[in-house]
Amino acid sequence: MLSAVASIRFDVLTLFPEIFSGYLTQSLLKLAIQRGLVAIHLWNIRDWAKGKHQSVDDRPFGGGPGMVIMPEPVYACVEAVQPLAEPPAELILLTPAGERLTQQVVRQLAQIPRLMLLCGRYEGFDERIRLGLKPREISIGDFVCNGGEVPAMVLIDTIIRLIPGVLGDAESAVDESHSEPGRLEYPQYTRPRNFRGMEVPEILLSGNHPAIAQWRREQSALRSRRANPPNPTDHDLSKGTGP
Ligand code: SAM
Repeated sequence: MLSAVASIRFDVLTLFPEIFSGYLTQSLLKLAIQRGLVAIHLWNIRDWAKGKHQSVDDRPFGGGPGMVIMPEPVYACVEAVQPLAEPPAELILLTPAGERLTQQVVRQLAQIPRLMLLCGRYEGFDERIRLGLKPREISIGDFVCNGGEVPAMVLIDTIIRLIPGVLGDAESAVDESHSEPGRLEYPQYTRPRNFRGMEVPEILLSGNHPAIAQWRREQSALRSRRANPPNPTDHDLSKGTGP
């Protein structure tokens, strides 16, 4: 498996850069930025809009509700930001119509040293942004957010966990839920040993590490089966029960 890059740069193109301010100044991301492992540059697409009102959106041709983001300011913003650093960024468009974000996609993206994230608003983008700029299109799930800023933060948050040095213990990102498709982590306990009558399982207090590892494997398998029960219409051909 290819490993993540040593450091990563994100250029985030948005109409609402202020949304990111709390997120950038807290916890793991703040430390990762201070250590030079992650760089995040915010760009306001409106700065590339023309005219007195710096409009970035207009009504859809053909009618319908809401406003659509126009191609000119987006192309101008992408073309101005792209040459500001090396290597050229891979452009990612956040859209509910994109490829679904999974841990496997996160792993692929963590191998790219520079990503440009394009956040939509309103009814989304004029189609010619997709056709002409040919971004990779990513959706964080089958639902609709008000804008691409939260999806961009989800993308950044999931990718930076894989950059060496961002997590206190690198092991945390190796053996966790979804590190293999469909696999979930085992249950975790900490102090107190008894909380409102709920006891920590004896095995975790035993000091018997092979037995603990075995218990965790079993619990992980149980949880994974509970969350993803086998589809009853799937025939297990290996057992000869197929039609
Ligand atoms: N009218 C659009 C549609 O039906 O597909 C939805 C537009 S949404 C209100 C505005 C912006 O939020 C989108 O352009 C996109 O950037 C972002 N967005 C919303 N849901 C998303 C999702 N599930 N994944 C990624 N981005 C999303």
